Amino acid sequence: MAKVVLKPGREKSVQKHHPWVFSGAIASVEDKVIDGKTVEVVSSDGIWLARGIINRHSQIVVRILTWNEDEPIDQEFWRSRLERAWSGRSRLASDPGTTAYRLVNAEGDGLPGLIVDHYGDWLVVQFHTRGMECEKEHILKEIKRLSQTHGIYERSEGEGREKEGVPPSAGVLSGETPPDTVEFRENGLRFLVDIKRGHKTGFYLDQRDNRRKTAPYLQSCDVLNCFSYSGAFAVYATAAGAKSIINIDSSEDALGLARRNIDLNKFFSGTSGKSSSSNVEYLTGDVFAELRRFRAGDRKFDAVILDPPKFAQRNSQIKSAARGYQDINRLSMNILRPGGILVTFSCSGLVSPDLFQKILFSASLEAKREVQILEKLGHSPDHPILITVPETEYLKGFICRVW
Ligand code: SAH
Repeated sequence: MAKVVLKPGREKSVQKHHPWVFSGAIASVEDKVIDGKTVEVVSSDGIWLARGIINRHSQIVVRILTWNEDEPIDQEFWRSRLERAWSGRSRLASDPGTTAYRLVNAEGDGLPGLIVDHYGDWLVVQFHTRGMECEKEHILKEIKRLSQTHGIYERSEGEGREKEGVPPSAGVLSGETPPDTVEFRENGLRFLVDIKRGHKTGFYLDQRDNRRKTAPYLQSCDVLNCFSYSGAFAVYATAAGAKSIINIDSSEDALGLARRNIDLNKFFSGTSGKSSSSNVEYLTGDVFAELRRFRAGDRKFDAVILDPPKFAQRNSQIKSAARGYQDINRLSMNILRPGGILVTFSCSGLVSPDLFQKILFSASLEAKREVQILEKLGHSPDHPILITVPETEYLKGFICRVW
């Protein structure tokens, strides 16, 4: 088998079971190596360390799959890894109230570059790396064995593939073509997802538990749901009996789907204290500008939800990302009534939970408001964080009371 030899002293990260071998750690690569194929990673003194898949087009040249010398990367390997991922979701899979969840969370499930999401009778997969792309047939064979679905749809697009030097790929991999929207349930609520065109695989499944935890705080509240996307937080807010909700997003299409999601749940005024879908507004605009407009107009809310996109994509953007987070959090504190609720998130992996808390601290000083942290939030458990790979932790949030 082809070998990749590390530079002296560069074996430590591999020995600590981190799956990424960067180009700078590599002393030599044997000539016979083929990108997308399995290689053996050895230390500078020739000791076997791990086995992974190589791609010299990427800065991460090897993505390690096993630290067990007796474990070849064959059909049996994919079978056992995927079975393990499926078994970790068995509790979710048996809950009729939730029919959308993540089955494979890439590095978090020991499968770097592979995402598999389940929506009702459909699966959406992403092969983000050349390694996963080359193993597609083996992986698909096991996925089909593990899940009976109407179809499997591929959404291997975006920056990840570009960095790997692999062209994007999207479309039906197996079974039928999915309809324009697919219905699923989350914590008993109904949602539509556009798995062919929506963000990521269509829905922000990582926020499922956070939406559930946020809902009880929103009863009888005037809620401002910023970065609404397809209105997931708004559906929970309506179910929890919010008095009114304004959804803001820059995407008109996202808000169109948000409206359909609210309507789908058939919330009518007067029924068991739930608010009416007629109290829900949809505002196409820029959250930064709209928050300033509300502040200028002295408009007040009982709860503000901030779930922005990733502000920091790379290290050089951490400072400007921090400024962005501070800005929207300060403005939100400004427009909250005393005792109001701020639900605030950052999905930038490069902004640590500690830094995010410091950003909120600075925002509170600038806003001259006292902030209590009521709950700290993270990923839903179908997005496991692998303890050896800190990069698998990216989402953090706080439910705060603002005085
Ligand atoms: N809260 C959502 C997910 C939000 S994803 C959920 O639970 O499903 C982030 C959203 O922010 C996207 O829909 C994107 O269109 C929107 N967005 C990005 N930048 C924006 C801006 N400056 N102002 C308003 N919306 C923005």
